[in-house]
Amino acid sequence: MSETAQAWKPKLDIRELYIDGKWIAPQASDPAKIVNPSTEDILGSAPVGGLRECEMALAAARRAFDDGPWPRMDRHTRARHMQKFFDFLEARQGQTVALQSLEVGLLASEATMHWFLGMKNFEEFIEISKRNPIDVQPLVIDPNAPGVGISAIVREPMGVVVAITPFNAPFLLDLMKAAPALCAGNTVILKPSPDTPLDPFILVEAAIAADLPPGVFNVVTGGIDVGEKLSSDPRVDMVTFTGSDVVGAKVMAQASSTIKKVHLELGGKSPLIVRHDADLEIAIRRGMIGFTTQSGQGCVLTTRHIVNNKIRPDYVAAMSEALKKIKVGNASDPTTTMGPLIREIARARTERYVKMGRDDGASLVFGGKRPAHLNKGYFFEPTLFDNVDNRSTIAQDEIFGPVGVVVGFDTDEEAIKLANDSRYGLGGCVVSRDVGTAVKMALQVRTGTISVNDGGSSSKFAPFGGYKRSGLGREWGEMGYHEYTEVKALSFPVA
Ligand code: NAD
Repeated sequence: MSETAQAWKPKLDIRELYIDGKWIAPQASDPAKIVNPSTEDILGSAPVGGLRECEMALAAARRAFDDGPWPRMDRHTRARHMQKFFDFLEARQGQTVALQSLEVGLLASEATMHWFLGMKNFEEFIEISKRNPIDVQPLVIDPNAPGVGISAIVREPMGVVVAITPFNAPFLLDLMKAAPALCAGNTVILKPSPDTPLDPFILVEAAIAADLPPGVFNVVTGGIDVGEKLSSDPRVDMVTFTGSDVVGAKVMAQASSTIKKVHLELGGKSPLIVRHDADLEIAIRRGMIGFTTQSGQGCVLTTRHIVNNKIRPDYVAAMSEALKKIKVGNASDPTTTMGPLIREIARARTERYVKMGRDDGASLVFGGKRPAHLNKGYFFEPTLFDNVDNRSTIAQDEIFGPVGVVVGFDTDEEAIKLANDSRYGLGGCVVSRDVGTAVKMALQVRTGTISVNDGGSSSKFAPFGGYKRSGLGREWGEMGYHEYTEVKALSFPVA
């Protein structure tokens, strides 16, 4: 790592947006104060974009795509720019991880995992972008027609891509949209969450270091007005959105009148099926990760534990013991094992769900309140409900707080039915010593990703995405890359 990179610090007091290769001060709003969710202290400030800045970014991204060098650049030259973008980030892992603890409340281990996942995929996107995107096929429609022809199947960039992201994993999610879109030759307007607007400016610095042409990468912060404008504008060819299903549906509606491509990565209520023959240690490990990671603020977490009634009492007892060892506290403290929720509104929502669970007759077996020893920060205890009816609100809604629910079952068929009785379909896991049966069950669960035992929710290049209300399309790896390309069939005579 060069000395410059070691001395580098992410910007915490940002006053200007990055549009058309220039720093632009927003006209309508003062900078927003950004709060550290572990301490409630002001961490920094960020500019708040508005409709004027959207207009500027839309014009710049359109111009850069229609008339600029980026989409028509030789793919090896473009890959060299993206390699510089990558190298800038690679040299700043520690500082990027530390910012995520301060801004999002992620533990260093969680932010490091995001960093690794994002950067490994980025590396792969650069490699994919260098490959010849033309596949040649013979024409077979009319063998008796005079002459011979072939079709070339050409991959081209989509055009202007708007990327809208949530708060809970800004580095990973911003990068997983910007990196493949840019590698494929698109121009990008990124709109991050108003809760975590500092992080994307690390990508801006990387874009400047990589010498991207003006208008190729733009960041417009802001709220609903900015999101609505960017997703509905006719100059945009594709909207890639990660966030809640409710907002995802709005984005789809906003984009519909201009018939643009919509890519959606949405919420989940993923099932963890624990069979009667499960290794309890694995089940508890997977179960605990499933609702305490990121304080429950993860789309793909397995928050719904569908446990065979023969071992359910043992599962609940062992989980309660394991939860006692969790240390809730400041995300920047290396001894902490569960950090805060993002804002007070998220904690209040979690409390409402705990009340609903009790009112619906579920048994609260662990947690359920704010930790008594922490009077600052948006903390909530890891919380476990047993005897949960799968049709109840706490089993159906994505709580996005550290709440796990345990639903009992007697047969494998019943477990699969319960797992699929959800409006979501993002992730899942089956825990069993009988791996063959577990794999057969996993294949029947209607989710975009699923693992068996300690298989991890997805390997780093396996496509990631959801069925049902969890989304449309895939991220990561080759499939994720090609979401950002159009396919052209070009037919021509050769004889
Ligand atoms: P959110 O849906 O409230 O907001 C997401 C983004 O949409 C923000 O940038 C917000 O400003 C913007 N937005 C709000 N209204 C808009 C509108 N009408 N038009 C355009 N943009 C608009 O989500 P959140 O609370 O920030 O994040 C949590 C959600 O994200 C959870 O549901 C979680 O499951 C989901 N998520 C999904 C994935 C995935 O890959 N499937 C990953 C992370 C998070």
